[in-house]
Amino acid sequence: MSIVIDGCAVASMDGDRSEYTVGHVIVDGARIQSVAEGRAPRDLPDATYVDGTGCLATPGFVNTHHHLYQWLTRGTAVDETLFDWLTTLYPVWAGLDEDTVRVGATGALVQLARTGCTTTTDHHYVFPGDGGDLLGAEIEAARAVGLRFLPTRGSMDLGRSRGGLPPDAVVEELDAILAATAEAIDRHHDPSPESMLRIGVAPCSPFSVTGDLLEQAAVLARDKGVRLHTHLAETTDEDAFCRDRFGCSPVEYVESLGWLGPDVWFAHGIHLDDKGIAALAASGTGVAHCPSSNARLGAGICRTRDLRDAGVPVGLGVDGAASNEAASLVEELRHSVLFARAVGGPQALTVRAGLELATIGGAQVLGWDDRIGSLEPGKLADLALWRVDTAAHAGIADPVAALVLGTPPPLELLLVQGRAVVRNDAMAEVDEERLAVDVRAAAATLRDRAVGR
Ligand SMILES: [Zn+2]
Repeated sequence: MSIVIDGCAVASMDGDRSEYTVGHVIVDGARIQSVAEGRAPRDLPDATYVDGTGCLATPGFVNTHHHLYQWLTRGTAVDETLFDWLTTLYPVWAGLDEDTVRVGATGALVQLARTGCTTTTDHHYVFPGDGGDLLGAEIEAARAVGLRFLPTRGSMDLGRSRGGLPPDAVVEELDAILAATAEAIDRHHDPSPESMLRIGVAPCSPFSVTGDLLEQAAVLARDKGVRLHTHLAETTDEDAFCRDRFGCSPVEYVESLGWLGPDVWFAHGIHLDDKGIAALAASGTGVAHCPSSNARLGAGICRTRDLRDAGVPVGLGVDGAASNEAASLVEELRHSVLFARAVGGPQALTVRAGLELATIGGAQVLGWDDRIGSLEPGKLADLALWRVDTAAHAGIADPVAALVLGTPPPLELLLVQGRAVVRNDAMAEVDEERLAVDVRAAAATLRDRAVGR
């Protein structure tokens, strides 16, 4: 059974960055069979033909940083810094349980799918003692929505009584964290070539976890052969925290604990000096660039141009929706290009370099670029087909510019592993009206629990 997407513009993001003004893509089962210029042969047996006229085909986007549960706590502390925003929200997040996480994750995953994302990670680090199987709940949500998923088992063990930022009620004990993380990997991690589910390890941040946890989490992840993730160099407050407490920069601090390498990626990486960028480049450590969240929290602008010039793998992330109410991956693409140029001039990040961040760059950051991130024969069939012939887009000379710089285009089709997740700009298998009702109720539940606390 194959799907033939015919007559569309194609931006393949393959090694040569091949593009076709009129091209076609043939998908065979879970994989891409061919990508080529011109119209497809008309007589392929057992093929479903999709008319791609007026559309642009790109690889499915890869989201490299998120906190899915935050979908339920949008619109809170809307004018605060990261540290003030966190201290407002920790007590609300303390009310999370399996049901609220499942609903929140579904809302966030649907928004990702509707904005071009086919693979996402998640960083879940709040595990209230009575919350149940929260990682299992979000894995269930990703399966139902149909996205390829790399959730990380996050954690916090440095509560306020020990000099950390989070209240003691939302942190866990070190041994319990390591045991739960190992169990999550053993139970869920699928390393197979057509995997839809890989697990990562992700203590939350230097100001919410101990050095012991960072060090032992790295040992555990390497022992299990999975990736490592945390927040780093997001704000000047964090930089001051590290210099005050550890006498060095955030990068030097985590480096001393074994946290640089091609199996590591950091969220944000805004406040990096040249030495920090060189350390990331030399070790192959990746960065998840989250422009909207960084702007929403007034944290700063990531040095994407300098990171790319140095050879650091860079991808895009929406970050948690509590600090990016839109949580739209295609908007992150636009913002990454505009923000880089606002500080670095029009050549700082080209339109096509932006598309790299959203696709093959993100796949590199997640260590998955051998399977996803470009439209090439043999790769997994994760593909976005964007309508660039609407009234808002028609006449834009360059279809890639229509996608990157224009208003977010509707999705004609989104394939994950060859399966339609979005069709005609609507979810193929999720009832979005029902979802809105469930999200409203779950958000109210969390707010009520916080009042009772
Ligand atoms: Zn984050």
